[in-house]
Amino acid sequence: MRLRVVYDNEAKEGLERDWGFSCLIESADRRILFDTGASEAILSRNMEKLGIHKEEIEIIALSHEHWDHIGGLSAVLHPDAKVYLPASFTAATKKKIERNAAGIIEVSGPADIIPGVHTTGELGTGIKEQSLVLDTAVGELVLTGCAHPGLDTIMDSARVFGNLGGVMGGFHGFDRLELLRGLKMIIPCHCTVHKREILDMYPEEAKKCEAGEIIEI
Ligand SMILES: [Zn+2]
Ligand SMILES: [Zn+2]
Repeated sequence: MRLRVVYDNEAKEGLERDWGFSCLIESADRRILFDTGASEAILSRNMEKLGIHKEEIEIIALSHEHWDHIGGLSAVLHPDAKVYLPASFTAATKKKIERNAAGIIEVSGPADIIPGVHTTGELGTGIKEQSLVLDTAVGELVLTGCAHPGLDTIMDSARVFGNLGGVMGGFHGFDRLELLRGLKMIIPCHCTVHKREILDMYPEEAKKCEAGEIIEI
C-alpha cells in the first residue's frame, strides 16, 4: 500500500500548499482519495503534477463536512466514484454529491470499505468525523482529517481492527503526546498544532507531512 499526500498546509517544491488536507491511498489496483482539500483549483493542479487522474479514483472518503476537507470535491467527483461520508452530513451536501457520483455510502459505525481499509464510523459529539484505518506492515495506521473528536478517542476506536502501528493526518490541538509512544509511524499533517513537539519527541518514528510526500507502508 502506498499513501500520497495531495493537499496539505505544507508542500514540496513544485506543488502548492494551502490550508486543507487530501491523501491518496493506493493498493495494487485500487485508489481511495481521503478528503479533497479546500480549493478545486489547487487540488486539480497538485493532482496533475503528481500524475493522478480523477477517473482512477474509485472511492472518495470524506472525514467531515468542513470546507478545508470537502472544498475540492467537484474537482474529483465523477460518475463512477462512490463517496463514503458520515451519515450526519447535511442533506444539501449529500444531494449535491449524489448528482455527480455513482452514489453515497453513509457511515455510522465501524465498517470495511475495501479489504485492508476500514472506517472508524462517525465519532464525536460536536463535529462528527470518520477516520480511516489501514492494515499495514507496521499494524493498523489511522488516517485522520482534523481529529475533531480527539485523537485519543479516534485511536481507541481504531483498535477494534487490530494493534495500532501508526497515526497520520490532522491532529488538531491534541497534546497528550505521550499517548503516541509505541507507535512506529507518526505523521502530523495539516492543522496539527504540536507538529514541532511531535517531531522532536519522536525523532525515529515521526515524519514531516507535506503535499507530494509518498509513504510506502
Ligand atoms: Zn475541521
Ligand atoms: Zn481541517
